[in-house]
Amino acid sequence: MEGSALVATGLTRDFRGFRAVDGVNLDVAAGSVHALVGPNGAGKTTLFNLLTGFLTPTAGRILLDGADITGLPPERVARRGVARSFQITSLFPQQTVRAHVELALQGGTSLGWRFWRSDRLLHRFRDRADALLADVGLADAGDQLAGSLAYGRKRALELAIALALDPKVLLLDEPTAGMGLEDVDRTVELIAGVRAGRTVVLVEHNMSVVGRLADRVTVLQAGRVLAEGPYDEVRADDRVVEAYLGS
Ligand code: ADP
Repeated sequence: MEGSALVATGLTRDFRGFRAVDGVNLDVAAGSVHALVGPNGAGKTTLFNLLTGFLTPTAGRILLDGADITGLPPERVARRGVARSFQITSLFPQQTVRAHVELALQGGTSLGWRFWRSDRLLHRFRDRADALLADVGLADAGDQLAGSLAYGRKRALELAIALALDPKVLLLDEPTAGMGLEDVDRTVELIAGVRAGRTVVLVEHNMSVVGRLADRVTVLQAGRVLAEGPYDEVRADDRVVEAYLGS
């Protein structure tokens, strides 16, 4: 691990006078897994939207590998190597699992879903798509329709799509949300497996998942950083226990 992959300084976002993210400093080390935690409304989603260009900050800066990406639109942030796990709602139920990954390999970002492109074009990426599907445990699912996948496997497909963009920084938004224990375990293994050479930023409510995956944790509360550090330290911080971890 060396240097910072993603740095935010004084990052702030107002919504009509309401400050959802308030002067946040974040330093994500290259090659690390960094978790963002905090109660509902803490500003985690807004922060993700700022880091990926889906929202522009009211104040503050964002650096990717030292280069200023503040205010760049999402496609350009994505092209510079920041990928975000797709939401299930953005899967196309009537398209095959493989076609989703093929399209992403062809450079489709969230804005570029163009399924009317010829099958021939997509199939140039077939082998790489199948390799990625195998990486996420979907080797057997390439020909199935995305809509037919069980919940946990849809999340695995989202991960394959994000990985197809070969990101330097992978942002995962609650990758285990709504999963049963077995799927949670599989997803943790999956993320641990794909982290090689990448930086992962993770919003996660399940603290056991955070403990297993994260090198460092940033705790947000009411838009501000309440605590930051290695999991064990943050977990033992009285302010964090009081604000969030409680039980
Ligand atoms: P988290 O992801 O930690 O639950 P969010 O980032 O979704 O938190 O929300 C932080 C705060 O900002 C919440 O109080 C939420 O109501 C508010 N907020 C988020 N997006 C908007 C928006 N588009 N307009 C107004 N308020 C918003």
